[in-house]
Amino acid sequence: MLEQANVILNKMQQAAKKAGRDSSHVELMLVTKTVPTSRILEAYHRGFRLYGENKIQEAAQKWSDPGFEGLRPDFIGHLQTNKVKSCLDVCGRIQSVDRESLVVALDKELQKRGERREVFLQVNTSDEDSKFGVAVSEALNFARVVAKYPTLKVTGLMTLALFSSEESLVRPCFKKLKNISTQIQEAGLFGNEFKHLSMGMSSDFEIAIEEGATIVRVGTAIFGARQLPDSHYWPT
Ligand SMILES: *Cc1c(COP(=O)(O)O)cnc(C)c1O
Repeated sequence: MLEQANVILNKMQQAAKKAGRDSSHVELMLVTKTVPTSRILEAYHRGFRLYGENKIQEAAQKWSDPGFEGLRPDFIGHLQTNKVKSCLDVCGRIQSVDRESLVVALDKELQKRGERREVFLQVNTSDEDSKFGVAVSEALNFARVVAKYPTLKVTGLMTLALFSSEESLVRPCFKKLKNISTQIQEAGLFGNEFKHLSMGMSSDFEIAIEEGATIVRVGTAIFGARQLPDSHYWPT
């Protein structure tokens, strides 16, 4: 399994090189939904420190293991407002902030805790109804709204590209996210620490790196196929 992770790391380096980018600016996130704790611990012991989980309950069960020494995964799934507390307890950075009602709920709980949390804004660059995320046309406005909440430290954007084997359909999704990121930077909404583009998965991470990804989120290419269909994780 971890041989696969090394294969991915090599491909990431090649893709960065091809794009004239410094490969140290692209991190590999291991997406561990459905992966049992024992296998994640194996990766942890090999030094991997960036993980993504998609379901809070599942994450809570797995990441309570003391072997992780308190490390918490990023949350990359759809976050319901009634799960905000447990998400803040179980996960670290939240990559899927995509609507004002969620921002309000997060802010309320973070204020109560006297805490600030790092988040990414999720953008729907594929225009597929089944994907969560703020619409491309609304993204800059949404960023202006989120900027009013000091409990949220926004350091990047996240997206899922169109699911397609056609590069000509996938690449524009990544370009859109990069464009929005540039607009937000030019508007000076979040300062210098706003720099992340979380984009690219098992099937399209090389294209994402060419388009500026700083974090690629890879699951099946490392851990093998999941038993549950993706519709379980991306409810329509
Ligand atoms: C599952 C998932 C991934 C990883 O998908 P793979 O195709 O298995 O690499 C990336 N991002 C999100 C949000 C996911 O839910």
